[in-house]
Amino acid sequence: MDDTLLKFLFRDAPVRGEIVRLRDSWQQILANHRYPAPVTRLLGEMTAAAALLAANIKFDGALILQIQGNGPVRLLVVEVQPQMRLRATAKLRETAVIDARATLQQLANPDGDARCAITLDPTGRRPGQQPYQGVVPLAGETIAAVLENYLRQSEQLDSRLWLAADETVASGVLLQKLPQDGGSAARPDLDAWPRVSALTATLSEPELLTLAPEALAHRLYWEEQLEHFAPLAPRFECNCSRQRSGRMLVSLGREEVDSILAELGQVEITCDFCNARYRFDAVDIGQLFAAGSVREPAASTRH
Ligand SMILES: [Zn+2]
Repeated sequence: MDDTLLKFLFRDAPVRGEIVRLRDSWQQILANHRYPAPVTRLLGEMTAAAALLAANIKFDGALILQIQGNGPVRLLVVEVQPQMRLRATAKLRETAVIDARATLQQLANPDGDARCAITLDPTGRRPGQQPYQGVVPLAGETIAAVLENYLRQSEQLDSRLWLAADETVASGVLLQKLPQDGGSAARPDLDAWPRVSALTATLSEPELLTLAPEALAHRLYWEEQLEHFAPLAPRFECNCSRQRSGRMLVSLGREEVDSILAELGQVEITCDFCNARYRFDAVDIGQLFAAGSVREPAASTRH
């Protein structure tokens, strides 16, 4: 079964929706990592949510959903590149002991000041140009509640999210109430939003995890008139490369890199997302800084 993201409008009702189910891409994200079950669930829900958010906006670039935690979980990152190319990773504190029933707040926010950031990074961004970033407090029992809050603030639209994930599947539903004006219906369907929200809330977690998006839409909205858009096909892809790793080393500065080289004889960078390894020896490092000092003057004026 392929990974799918369905987009649809309720005909004659000012509500739009999306349903996503990630199986292959989610399993590829998990393939190189071993997370405790509550972290798997949280990262999966974030991955499904990031796909839904990226498909919901007209934007050419990457969407990055990130939680900087202050508990056992230090960092959760999901990136959605154009054409629904996904990657995600979690970083835990080395000494972290995670209870099987740990909540979002216990995992990432015991201090109460953690934030959730949504960054939109346009394709071909010029140096110095800042990406757009929205930040909301990590308030609520679930990542769905945190993101509903973000959507209300950033888009000024009532939004509901249902998310679920286990070690096999990550899935979710997004509903958004659209402004009434511009509707072609002779009699506006005023109770469409509460009706469609209530229908979606009847969804059980096992249904969300097991049903394909088409079957799920039918199960929930068989009495409604839906207008479907072409479905999207999310997939896993990591855009790390030797070149990017090299640029990262140049930005660290020659002194820092030379000290690693002196200690270990080579510098090795492992990609947090896909575990790819990039090794640089003394000759590589010399070439990197010779080229880097021409291309990236900022790096040579750091000291
Ligand atoms: Zn990678």
